[in-house]
Amino acid sequence: MHFIEALKLKSKLFFLFLFITLGLIVIGILGAMNTSSMKKNLDALYFGSLIPVTELNEILQTYHNGLANNIYFARDMRMSPSELFSQTQNATFKINTLWQSYEKHFKRDNEVQYVEYTAHEIEIINNYFTQLSNAAMNGGNMGKVSLSTLEYKISRIHNVVQKLISYEVKIAQYERKKFLDTYHQTMVQLAFILAAVVIGLMLVSYFVFRSIQKDHSRLEIATKRLKIANKKLESASYTDSLTSLHNRRYFNIVYEREIKRAKREKSYITFMMLDIDYFKQFNDTYGHIEGDFALKSVAKVLSDTLKRPTDFVFRLGGEEFGVLLTHTDEINSAKLAQDICMAVKERAIRHAASKVGEYLSISIGVVCCIADDALSDEVLLSRSDEMLYEAKNKGRDGYIITSNISEFQTQPREEVSA
Ligand code: GH3
Ligand code: MG
Ligand code: MG
Repeated sequence: MHFIEALKLKSKLFFLFLFITLGLIVIGILGAMNTSSMKKNLDALYFGSLIPVTELNEILQTYHNGLANNIYFARDMRMSPSELFSQTQNATFKINTLWQSYEKHFKRDNEVQYVEYTAHEIEIINNYFTQLSNAAMNGGNMGKVSLSTLEYKISRIHNVVQKLISYEVKIAQYERKKFLDTYHQTMVQLAFILAAVVIGLMLVSYFVFRSIQKDHSRLEIATKRLKIANKKLESASYTDSLTSLHNRRYFNIVYEREIKRAKREKSYITFMMLDIDYFKQFNDTYGHIEGDFALKSVAKVLSDTLKRPTDFVFRLGGEEFGVLLTHTDEINSAKLAQDICMAVKERAIRHAASKVGEYLSISIGVVCCIADDALSDEVLLSRSDEMLYEAKNKGRDGYIITSNISEFQTQPREEVSA
């Protein structure tokens, strides 16, 4: 059944339909063939035996009641010679017609000879009666007709025709038995063929449906794999490859979504802008590879410090990071910013070129407020950027926090002094 496996869904259904149609055609043809064979048997029984027996019986009746009786009547003067003549002519004509019709029916080889013999006997006895009626017409004395000869002739033709009748009856019985046997065999054959076709159909249907089921499971597995691959791809497109934090692309989505949510709930929202202090000098002193390690360390500090599912950490670009907190008030936001600054320093990444200490440090600008309809998307970013600028100005390695979002400046700022 590999052949079915190889077919496509549409072809499988078409194959099933084709198979069922062929099955029905086979059943139809066999049914029609068997019905026509039964018809032939019935015809043989009716025209080959029943009608011939009737004809032969009628011939016998005509000899007894027509021809023989008329002679008795003529002897007793109860029938005139002319009447006898015409009655004899009618009767012999009737017998000849019946005989011709009987001869036309199908005859078996072993029957032919006896039929020819009977035809000869009929001709003889018909001549006998014709001669008698002719003699009567010619004034012959019917009283002189020998009764014993008449009886002998009648009994002879009776025996001859009766033998033929018995033979035909035997044949009819034989044909009937044959017909019943054929009928029985046909029924058994039909039952077998029907069972074979039904079993075949069930088997093919089973294989087709099992194959469709397999296709379906394969499709489901492929869809699941595709979904997983899509998720991986999506997650890769939202992840920064160096630090494994969320990237700027993901930040854009989350930032907008969380601000909307906070506005709906009228709840706290905090945004922190983080920047490593004197990182240019760090790279210059230790090289870019060490710089990358330092970036990874800061990323680790951030993800270790901010563990709640509602806290989000991003690498926004270069050595700048963003932190978005929800449901966190000003005190707790300040505490977290403080913890981050401390944790970065506790990493003890030596930074000989730093002007604020011997280890790598960061500065953070924090904005924390209760979101309302007046809060625009840009204000949090701009205010946190301003706070970061202030933190840098105030000597770095620290944070500046504000909850005031109405005072943000749009004018260009002076460069932070190194
Ligand atoms: P400041 O304290 O004022 O922030 O001084 P800074 O030197 O850190 O100044 P700035 O923030 O402008 O420095 C950015 C530097 O960060 C420039 C570049 O050498 C470094 N940098 C940015 N992206 C990467 C990175 O992916 N890997 C490494 N190793 N260094 C980076
Ligand atoms: Mg910077
Ligand atoms: Mg910097």
